[in-house]
Amino acid sequence: MTPDMSMWCCDCGESFVFTAKEQEFFKEKNLKNLPKRCPNCRVLSKIKRSGKIFESASALNCAACGALTVVPFKAKGYKPVYCASCFAGVKHTPVAHPPFSS
Ligand SMILES: [Zn+2]
Ligand SMILES: [Zn+2]
Repeated sequence: MTPDMSMWCCDCGESFVFTAKEQEFFKEKNLKNLPKRCPNCRVLSKIKRSGKIFESASALNCAACGALTVVPFKAKGYKPVYCASCFAGVKHTPVAHPPFSS
């Protein structure tokens, strides 16, 4: 089985995991260029490329687990922002999501 690979983001310098699953996907699609950016910077560059909403995008930490997350709007200080997984969780339960390690 393909092992997960540790990569370094060329934008923010953070390490991220290029998972075995993603590697399989790359192989399947015959993609030659390995990802150079962490998932968050990938989202950011996508937003940048689309041009329009980058001005109003914010990168901040999830209020529940602390993971860096990118939202396509200007975050207001008074409103907690959650990453996608915690957001799904807080909808159903007000209890804070346990932090995940990575
Ligand atoms: Zn990055
Ligand atoms: Zn979270």
